[in-house]
Amino acid sequence: MEASLVDPSPRKIAGMDVGPLAFGHWRFVGDDDAGADALVEAALDLGMNLHDTADVYGFDWGGEGMGHAERRLGGVLSRHPDWREQMVIVTKGGIIPGVPYDSSPTYLRKACEASLARIGVDHVDAYLIHRPDLLGHPEQVAETLLGLREEGKIGAIGVSNHTLEQTRALEALLGEAVAVTQPEFSVAELGPIRSGLFDHAMAVGTVPMAWSPLAGGRVPTGEGLPAPLVAVLDELAADRGVSRSAIAMAFVLAHPARPIAIVGSQKVERLEDAVTALGVGLTRADAYRIIEVSEGVPLP
Ligand code: NAP
Repeated sequence: MEASLVDPSPRKIAGMDVGPLAFGHWRFVGDDDAGADALVEAALDLGMNLHDTADVYGFDWGGEGMGHAERRLGGVLSRHPDWREQMVIVTKGGIIPGVPYDSSPTYLRKACEASLARIGVDHVDAYLIHRPDLLGHPEQVAETLLGLREEGKIGAIGVSNHTLEQTRALEALLGEAVAVTQPEFSVAELGPIRSGLFDHAMAVGTVPMAWSPLAGGRVPTGEGLPAPLVAVLDELAADRGVSRSAIAMAFVLAHPARPIAIVGSQKVERLEDAVTALGVGLTRADAYRIIEVSEGVPLP
């Protein structure tokens, strides 16, 4: 039988092993402490030791505003301080709703320090520029990030939603590759495999983190997805005896850049379903079928 492309082995960030599935905190809002604790504990139990948050999480999905999701994570850690050592925490800064982007040295430093205070930690394991500041000079961004790392406030340096050229410019001025890149990537968003972002990540050893691996919920509901894509996912799901979401998650994990899929659900049973993706047998032919129906154009 043909070997599966899905690679369930740990990835490495800042020298630490992280599971191929991360727990995403974008929708981690609400005021239920017990619920927050239960969700984080379930994620850790399922091997999702990488926790992805951002200062702006909490601004939407019914949150109280900027900082809410980080404060909620801080609350979990204050009640369960022993969980910190099991976790690899990634946060991001550089978005200010209404501005909307600022990666100037003064702002970025203040944003990072505010994130640490809200989460209640002395450092985060990786800090990412959430979106490129089109009016910021990458030299200043590089200096600020290197300074924060030098002070021990951040472990690894990364970017999110950066183009290949924006990534390369920052890397040239950092004098090293970014440790993490976080683009949107799913069966419905193939940009990173077409733009050269994943090729570059493989060339320099950057770990990709795929955001919205279920296209923000459009994969399970099917809403707004091309009908042929849903049909192929369903056919593969029936054949492998897993959910449509598990096939889509497996596709994300199958790329040789070894992406980490950031699971966004806030329901334990759906986190459990995501784990079934790790055992899915997905062949090269399966993955190419998905690419073809996603793009809607026959491969040459
Ligand atoms: P996702 O896993 O693609 O989508 C999660 C959404 O799908 C949730 O609303 C979830 O609802 C819903 N869902 C899952 N299974 C479902 C089902 N069977 N039926 C109906 N709905 C279902 O991920 P995401 O939340 O969009 O993004 C994941 C993470 O990526 C975020 O938490 C964040 O950490 C990161 N992210 C980063 C950026 C960036 O710019 N860097 C942008 C977006 C996201 P339930 O909670 O009800 O299950």
